[in-house]
Amino acid sequence: MEKNSSPPLDFIRETVKRDLASGRFGGKVYTRFPPEPNGYLHIGHAKAISIDFGIAQEFGGKCNLRMDDTNPTREEAEYVQAIIEDVAWLGYQWEKLTFASDYFEQMYQYAEQLIKAGLAYVCDLKAEEVREYRGTLTLPGRESPYRNRSIEENLALFRRMRAGEFPDGSRTLRAKIDMASPNLNLRDPVMYRILHARHHRTGDAWCLYPTYDWAHGLEDAIEGITHSLCTLEFEDHRPLYDWFLDRLGIHHPQQIEFARLNLTYTVLSKRVLQRLVQEGYVKGWDDPRLPTLRGMRRRGYPARAILDFCARIGVAKTESVVDFALLEHCVREVLNRQCQRVMAVLNPLRVVIENYPEDTCEELEAINNPEDPAAGTRKVPFSREIYIEKDDFMEEPVPKFYRLAPGREVRLRYAYLIRCHQVKKNEKGEVVELRCRYDPTTRGGQTPDGRRVKATLHWVSARHGLKAEVRLYEHLFTQADPLNLPEGADFTVNLNPRSLQVLTDCLVEPSLSSARPGDTFQFERLGYFCVDPDSTPGHPVFNRTVSLKDEWAKIKFRIEQKQGEN
Ligand code: ATP
Ligand code: MG
Repeated sequence: MEKNSSPPLDFIRETVKRDLASGRFGGKVYTRFPPEPNGYLHIGHAKAISIDFGIAQEFGGKCNLRMDDTNPTREEAEYVQAIIEDVAWLGYQWEKLTFASDYFEQMYQYAEQLIKAGLAYVCDLKAEEVREYRGTLTLPGRESPYRNRSIEENLALFRRMRAGEFPDGSRTLRAKIDMASPNLNLRDPVMYRILHARHHRTGDAWCLYPTYDWAHGLEDAIEGITHSLCTLEFEDHRPLYDWFLDRLGIHHPQQIEFARLNLTYTVLSKRVLQRLVQEGYVKGWDDPRLPTLRGMRRRGYPARAILDFCARIGVAKTESVVDFALLEHCVREVLNRQCQRVMAVLNPLRVVIENYPEDTCEELEAINNPEDPAAGTRKVPFSREIYIEKDDFMEEPVPKFYRLAPGREVRLRYAYLIRCHQVKKNEKGEVVELRCRYDPTTRGGQTPDGRRVKATLHWVSARHGLKAEVRLYEHLFTQADPLNLPEGADFTVNLNPRSLQVLTDCLVEPSLSSARPGDTFQFERLGYFCVDPDSTPGHPVFNRTVSLKDEWAKIKFRIEQKQGEN
């Protein structure tokens, strides 16, 4: 592809572009993102959001944020608030915030319109019987014995349903379509069920609630939506969407379906996430291990990275599973550009530099971000006693281990070259302290004589370092496809027991004393970290957002090699 040519449009953008050019819908684009407020948004929703809002933005249109709150038993105001916050966090601005429940009266009137046209009827079959009469893919359905009630009787019964005269589940309103249709969705689908339940917004005003299929097209029509974008599972429902709007003769948006996002090593289903939270496998909806937007935010994923990821996976019509490593790659790209570098030691090992004066402290110049010269430099204090990472020392180094070992010289980042000449152990034989000597001619890590050292270590001055808690994360599940289970097994068998590791003896450089929850940093050589809201004055807590190792680069290399072979 040419460097400056824009990428080809996906099939949804092609359609929108064509509709704009032809003047369909008056040359306008109006989309909506319609979550059901029965849980918190996850990264799958971010994909839908970036498509709905993104397309409106790109084509000069509008997008509504609509709470699809037609099911009173599962929805809560708490979720509504969280959804609003999460969409705003991604950086999108809605034209209107709407609620499907605000249209209940209008929907009811449309239902009466269909009854009067002989296109809907009140059915007394119980849910189980409705299912039985529906038939199967190979077997045509049977007509309900109540299908041919007169319009007057239907209208009277429907009004009594609304008035609350009948118990839950005793009657439904059904569309009169075709019990022999090869599409099961068209076999007289239920439009209303009786449910004496309190709704989080309409209270006890209704005991009739609309089904998704009946309500959704109406919501779109009422709001003047032009392109109703949804996931593939609604493809078979589109003929019904069209049937209702055509029969009512009202504004008729174009429904277009795209593939859901699936990600390895996690689950994108509100129902499953709900179980993880309720059964205590994670600490809450914002647990940094969850693929919820608030979990990812707390983990330190920038909204920008999530949107970059959504742009890279694109829009397709076939289901696929995206490698989690691609998401992490996008996170690293953004953090690499914007993060201040600092030094922190997760598993400290004391180092005493014997020939460094005891009462001296030097302020050494450190680069804040090599990717961004404008970020400048800062001072890092250095003194006689420092901590390095336990992993950076081996008493008997194995081949290819180039870091510190007895007799060996390494560079301390921004400081000096040191050489280890003595190892102190405790009674259990564990190394607890290294005695080293430094070369005063190597300040700033320079080697005037040109001698080479193979490793540069990060460190924190013992006297100046701040104690910190650090939480390291791994995938929540041990299996790439955690819901692919043997008969009868529960997905919890695939939970990763090591998904959270808490380190409580970490040390960070003193410049972090002013860090605030949400701030992100690169801890040199260790990864990107974000200050957790659990932090208190004097007790900072950091989440590792992502390590520095880019698994995606390796995966991409393998894919490209394979393609090269074919
Ligand atoms: P879940 O299965 O997690 O409960 P849902 O589809 O029931 O998801 P809704 O609140 O109904 O959740 O979804 C709002 C919008 O987000 C819908 O248009 C839906 O198609 C879309 N969406 C949900 N999950 C994904 C996903 N994994 N990938 C892309 N879009 C998604
Ligand atoms: Mg849903």
